[in-house]
Amino acid sequence: MAAVTRIGAAAGTVDAVVVGAGHSGLAMSYVLAEHGVEHVVLERGEVAHSWRHERWDSLRLLTPNWQSRLPGYRYTGPDPDGYMEAAEVADFIAGYARYVGAPVRSGTTVTSLTADDGGYRVETDRGVWRCRAAVLANGAHGVPVVPEVAARLPNGIRTLTAAEYRNAAQLDWGRVLVVGASATGLQLADEIRRSGRPVTIAVGEHIRMPRLYRGRDIQWWLEATGILDERYDEVDDIVRARRVPSPQLVGSPERRTLDLNALLEQGVDVVGRLVGVIGTRLQFSGSLANHCAMADLKLNRLLERIDDWCVRRRMSDAVAESERFAPTRVDAAPRLVLDAAKEPVATIVWATGLKPDYSWLQAPVLDGKGRLRHDGGIAAPGLYALGLNFMRRRRSSYLHGAEDDVRDLGSHLVQHLHRSSRQRRKLAANSSRWRTSEG
Ligand SMILES: Cc1cc2nc3c(=O)[nH]c(=O)nc-3n(C[C@H](O)[C@H](O)[C@H](O)COP(=O)(O)OP(=O)(O)OC[C@H]3O[C@@H](n4cnc5c(N)ncnc54)[C@H](O)[C@@H]3O)c2cc1C
Repeated sequence: MAAVTRIGAAAGTVDAVVVGAGHSGLAMSYVLAEHGVEHVVLERGEVAHSWRHERWDSLRLLTPNWQSRLPGYRYTGPDPDGYMEAAEVADFIAGYARYVGAPVRSGTTVTSLTADDGGYRVETDRGVWRCRAAVLANGAHGVPVVPEVAARLPNGIRTLTAAEYRNAAQLDWGRVLVVGASATGLQLADEIRRSGRPVTIAVGEHIRMPRLYRGRDIQWWLEATGILDERYDEVDDIVRARRVPSPQLVGSPERRTLDLNALLEQGVDVVGRLVGVIGTRLQFSGSLANHCAMADLKLNRLLERIDDWCVRRRMSDAVAESERFAPTRVDAAPRLVLDAAKEPVATIVWATGLKPDYSWLQAPVLDGKGRLRHDGGIAAPGLYALGLNFMRRRRSSYLHGAEDDVRDLGSHLVQHLHRSSRQRRKLAANSSRWRTSEG
């Protein structure tokens, strides 16, 4: 492979550029180094930037420590069944960067990436890189998704996204409306309620899961039964599968289950999706009972699948007994309106999801909504993505999902480099033949 040639101090020509030094970019760096591919990892901040700067204070992984593994590296600490805090995750990833010896250029923001001369031109605030392959490992959770109703809120309600939220002390005193009931929404509603503030949570489609089932972490079952390995080209509707929200799980030392029933017990007011605002009246959908019934149904299907797996593996006696959980105790006719004039809302926290930031991507690989068009992470010849929801497998966006994906895409990238080298050699040979015959 070609050696790195420097143009100035910080830029040059290299076989591959990886954008982002989170776990995905570093895992790709590991695989590229295995294949002897000269590359750089460009990082706007520092290694594991998102875990150091974009998470709330109390966040712990919802995946247990034994599941924190990357190519050639895994958690080896004293608490495999525990759940790392964000700062510990950042240290884990920084340790990985050292282990890999990744060629990270920190403090280097990629400002544009364009197709150029059969490869890519990557502009940064510290110079231009040229490469034959590029990997977008800039994170699936770069920018918050805020629903359009946000523009019609009455005055006097402070709003912040989950990415801006750090802790409850940051909020004014008074009712907090948390919009969204996936892992983030539930965790924030739980924490804010514990701070003594009245909390309402607006709930749409969600995935309910117990922390422990039959004596084991639910993640253990998701791994063992092969659910996390389901591939993007095997599911019926991948577009829908990629939109499935994160499961209602929290990583806590006591390994507790956090679901809507747990919030109801704490006195959280549970309403349907926030669908509109008229004057001071916040309107919620009447679909709450349906969404909860659907989540309960899917939960039971999952537990049945686990039970069946135990029977087939003849391990039913080796684990705790099968159980079913109480249905979500929602009102069949929940309230549909919260009038902020009568019941003031101090703060709204948008826990409505995050999406990748591709504002700097100039290659024609985005759809009308700015989403990356890709086939299992391959966006264009020599252009790859990492870490997206259900990108190649159900586990793709998790720490433990990086390994299989970077091995698949790393091999593809190497083949692409070989193909493009062959092509270049052929072109060079043709042009020298042409020059000779002309001469
Ligand atoms: C709230 C939350 C909780 C999560 N909990 C879990 C969990 O429990 N278990 C689990 O396995 N996963 C979890 N995840 C999912 C996943 O592990 C993280 O999103 C992870 O950070 C993704 O890693 P990544 O390397 O793909 O992206 P990131 O960690 O986001 O890394 C991307 C890097 O790219 C850099 N970057 C971005 N744009 C540019 C640019 N233009 N130029 C240069 N650099 C750039 C960023 O600074 C960042 O360092 C969670 C995610 C979130 C948001």
